[in-house]
Amino acid sequence: MCLTIPAKVISVEDSGDNLPLKRITIRDSRGERSITALFEDIRAGDWVLYASDMAVEKISEDDAREILELLEPRSHIDISRLDSVFLEILKACHTRELRREEIIRLLHASEGVEMEALLSEANTIRQARLRDFFCIHGIIEFSSHCVRNCLYCGLRRDSNDIQRYRMRPDEIVNSVYDAVNRRGYKLIVLQSGDDFYYTDDMLCDIIRKIKEKCRVFIFMSVGERSRTSYEKMKDAGANGVLFRFETSNKAIYNSIHPGQSYDERIALLLEMKKLGYFIATGFLIGLPGQTVEDIADDIITIKSLGANMVTVGPFIPSDVTPLALHPAGSAAMTLKVTAISRLLTPKAKIPVTTALETIENEAGRKLGLSSGANALMFNLTPEKYRGDYMIYPNKYHGKEEFWEKYGLYKEELSYKMLEKKMSEAFEE
Ligand code: SAH
Repeated sequence: MCLTIPAKVISVEDSGDNLPLKRITIRDSRGERSITALFEDIRAGDWVLYASDMAVEKISEDDAREILELLEPRSHIDISRLDSVFLEILKACHTRELRREEIIRLLHASEGVEMEALLSEANTIRQARLRDFFCIHGIIEFSSHCVRNCLYCGLRRDSNDIQRYRMRPDEIVNSVYDAVNRRGYKLIVLQSGDDFYYTDDMLCDIIRKIKEKCRVFIFMSVGERSRTSYEKMKDAGANGVLFRFETSNKAIYNSIHPGQSYDERIALLLEMKKLGYFIATGFLIGLPGQTVEDIADDIITIKSLGANMVTVGPFIPSDVTPLALHPAGSAAMTLKVTAISRLLTPKAKIPVTTALETIENEAGRKLGLSSGANALMFNLTPEKYRGDYMIYPNKYHGKEEFWEKYGLYKEELSYKMLEKKMSEAFEE
């Protein structure tokens, strides 16, 4: 489901005949242009929502202004106040790969003009390269059981006092069916703890049933299973994986993932890529012992893995974990990483993560979208289970209806556009 953009109608061409489609001229932040309207009742002065050179719906001026306010570009930056080295790095990203030291310098962007310049540059690249193409995706968290013991995660095996649940296969299929066929979602992540109650056959059956009934991209986020499992799920119709490497610092990785290995996780990710999955990957910000240099390496790792989707969020402490007293990752660092990821991978899909929304609320959504992110990921877990998927507490959700109102571009073309964007993500 892709977000449409509001624009004001400047003029309507008199088509003369009784064609159902009309040519109209619209004006938005990028100037005037001629597009096709998919409806007849349209006049100069009206506001429309458009996507991919087609006006898909008429909306009120108030609604248009509300959404424009959320998407408006950042304010103009006075670049004469920028450090010349910093400015050179921002310029260099358009013509060549940034070096590690340069990424580190950007991560050290000071609050104020440097940070504004970095986020603004990412926002401009996003607007120029992706033509304001936003998407809203959904995530269904179908099981909170987990055999792993990750030190930061509230669902870890040793969290005894939490309520755990498993959705039945038919409940999972029906939830996706509702999200796709009623609400218009085109990409759904199915996430769970590493829960082997669901056999390969069960997961494949779920995927097949979904694919029989819905035209949707399915991303699996079910953790470490064998290569064969992932091969079977791919054959059943899964399109992508959401599988973070969490941190590229092996020592940190191994210290917070008892019984797991960084090398094995990366090897599995590479196998998934070979199997033809779209790759959504990323890391956590604010892990114990993590330095700015580590974060630069994390960004370089994302780039070298050729991710189609970048998913980076702040660590949030959970009371039921050994890291309960460790401070949350910083929102400012998350925005810098979002922006740098956009500079390095101009076409990647970068959703605003729920964890950023959780530490910044609705402002986090807007900040993320104006710092290079181009997608939102809404929680579609059925209400009765949602509170029990406690990887961290107080998970943000809100205003989904507001955003969904503009994500109405539900036709087949929207699926095709998404498919194209996903494949283009890493082409130059
Ligand atoms: N079992 C799956 C899904 C894990 S949960 C897997 O291993 O891939 C999805 C993501 O939530 C994790 O990859 C992790 O990055 C994030 N997460 C877990 N605990 C968190 C916390 N306390 N704060 C922020 N993000 C967390």
